[in-house]
Amino acid sequence: MKYQKLAELYEKLSSTTKRLEKIEILSSFLKDLSEKDKDVLYLLLGNIYPEYDEKKIGISNQLTIKAISKATGTQNTKIVQEWKFLGDLGKVSEKLTKNKKQVTLQSHVLTINKVLENLRKLPDLVGKGTVGKKLSLITELLTSATPLEALYLVRTLIGDLRIGLKESTIRESIVIAFFNKDKETSKIIQEAIDKSNDISAVFVIAKKGKLKDFEKISLVVGKPIKVMLAQKVSSIEDGFKALGENVGIEYKYDGFRLIIHKKEKEINLFTRRLENVTKQFPEVVAYVKEYVKGDSFILDTEAVGFDRKTKEYKPFQEVSQRIKRKYNIEELQKKLPIEINVFDIIYYNGKSQLNEPFKKRTALIKKIIKNQKYKIVSSKQIITSDLKKAEEFYKKSLEDNQEGIMMKNLDAIYQPGSRVGHMLKIKPEERDLDLVITGAEYGTGKRSGWLSSFILSCKNKDEFLEIGKVGTGITEKVESGKVTFDELTKKVKPLIIKEHGRQVTIKPKIVVTITYQEIQKSPNYSSGFALRFPRFTALRIDRNTEDITTLNEVKKDYEKQKRN
Ligand code: AMP
Repeated sequence: MKYQKLAELYEKLSSTTKRLEKIEILSSFLKDLSEKDKDVLYLLLGNIYPEYDEKKIGISNQLTIKAISKATGTQNTKIVQEWKFLGDLGKVSEKLTKNKKQVTLQSHVLTINKVLENLRKLPDLVGKGTVGKKLSLITELLTSATPLEALYLVRTLIGDLRIGLKESTIRESIVIAFFNKDKETSKIIQEAIDKSNDISAVFVIAKKGKLKDFEKISLVVGKPIKVMLAQKVSSIEDGFKALGENVGIEYKYDGFRLIIHKKEKEINLFTRRLENVTKQFPEVVAYVKEYVKGDSFILDTEAVGFDRKTKEYKPFQEVSQRIKRKYNIEELQKKLPIEINVFDIIYYNGKSQLNEPFKKRTALIKKIIKNQKYKIVSSKQIITSDLKKAEEFYKKSLEDNQEGIMMKNLDAIYQPGSRVGHMLKIKPEERDLDLVITGAEYGTGKRSGWLSSFILSCKNKDEFLEIGKVGTGITEKVESGKVTFDELTKKVKPLIIKEHGRQVTIKPKIVVTITYQEIQKSPNYSSGFALRFPRFTALRIDRNTEDITTLNEVKKDYEKQKRN
């Protein structure tokens, strides 16, 4: 298949903001797509491999500029100038390719296979001469691209397709293309996506038109899956109302999600973003080997940091560096020890546990884990219908420096990837939100050279809506448990999409936790709300933009605040 055909599809998809129209366009494309071109589905999501695969394109704006320069014979400075003007490197590449085409005729036709072949070589390149090799792989593609192809190649390279296509839209398009539209079918296909994290494999099954075939998709130990997520309730009473009697109540540990896979001798650890972090946590591998019985399993856990001397639990931000650190691991392991709290089990000795009721899964956890405090333990749990007992447990969790409690229906199954109504979280009125950085402003005076104020957004379906700015809580000098302007600037800068004076627009990627005093209505931000006294508390490197606060949740918090 020609890459041009995909570029035309991208163009059609970006010509409408309406989800239903996107579904119509995409479903008719999928109907005609042959099995041998199945990997187009990865490209539609801006990827080159299934979501569970860690190999990503990861090309910087700077390298892309160099490639455009070589492919079109334009100077770097001219490209940067155009970029400032057009606000989209893709558009720059399209324009310059058009100009070039007036002189030279396109040499050969770009196919999907060729694009994938070159793009897939990129993440494998390491060591000396890497940059040069990457540059020539990209330049080769751009040189034979049509203007429209150049536009989408560049956007793919820098990870910003701008076609407004989400996984859920692809799922619905698959439903419409190969089945009759109904909720149950959507659910089956979503489950297949969540279990496999491989949209192309799901497409291949769907193309055969038999829903029953999806049963063949099973869990594979060693391959990451999306975890089950909780909904929020504001009181224990509401929790009991939603879940009925005899509820499993657990600490809501203030750490990060770690999913542990064991198959024979091999142990792998994944974050909820499906990243493999096994190398960063050698001690956890040892704990699992020593204290968990079983030949193969997948455990869902929360890793919590604690102080080696006082044994007090520490907030997430203080241990978060352990997730990313690739060197001096032993030193960091000593400085920032963690305890693994196992709260669910997804697979055990050859059998999926997804459809087992939660009480059975809990019982299994208790059976196979030899509790070792400050190493690995099964999560603290009580089963009760009694409000008083639940409240006492909640208080104890907070005294133990944890975040609150989780309330769980004992009969519920495990639903990968879903935010379910049978697992609820309760936190005190701390007033914090997980938001994404979508803009920033360069500082002045002591802070010049750094980005010093960050625009925050919540989400509403496919859109990000601004809700405030934050500079407070970020420090100039290194302080334990704090994030510095320097660190944040370095993270944010590669994601700049557009510069306008001292202000920049940022590709929404970086999730942060913000505490605030009050939510106010405000015409100044696109969400219609603003935060009073926002303060930066944590960089959530373990979270995706899918996980951030929704406009609906902001509205609810606002209403609740008014009532109080
Ligand atoms: P939140 O991050 O506020 O959406 O809360 C849900 C998160 O709490 C989960 O993703 C887990 O990482 C974490 N968590 C802590 N303790 C538990 C527990 N006992 N059961 C389930 N999730 C937990």
